[in-house]
Amino acid sequence: MLERTLSIIKPDAVAAGCTGKILAMIEEAGFRILALRMQRLRREQAEQFYEVHRGKHFYESLVRFMTEGPVVVMALEREDAVARLRDLMGPTDPAKAGEGTVRKLYGTNIERNAIHGSDAPETAERELRFFFSTSELV
Ligand code: ATP
Ligand code: MG
Repeated sequence: MLERTLSIIKPDAVAAGCTGKILAMIEEAGFRILALRMQRLRREQAEQFYEVHRGKHFYESLVRFMTEGPVVVMALEREDAVARLRDLMGPTDPAKAGEGTVRKLYGTNIERNAIHGSDAPETAERELRFFFSTSELV
């Protein structure tokens, strides 16, 4: 079934000039880009976006990282979009990522791992609403 997911090219990958290469990987993997925007997250936005991790040892550092420079947020569509994007990304820790995944190619460590993807369809719908209004999803 056609499904939507939310992805973020994180500040490390944007700063390294890898935005275009990651977008090409996403399109070549069969995703349709429904919406896309470059922006710098405000602290409160990053805190709220990663609310589920509040209190964990990496939370403060994660919020600092996600606000250190611009990100590219996008709404994506394809069959099984959530799972297929997670496949393309690779696991959270780039050291454990398979060849050809975004995190293997462009991630640095378990925090600075180049890309975000929603972890479940329900999360995806919430995260899409967090960044985009219905009329922006073309
Ligand atoms: P994301 O939600 O960004 O797509 P994920 O679902 O693979 O990544 P989560 O467990 O949701 O991983 O963690 C969110 C983000 O927090 C990670 O992508 C990474 O940037 C950071 N992070 C997770 N675990 C750690 C850790 N042990 N140490 C440092 N940073 C971490
Ligand atoms: Mg996650």
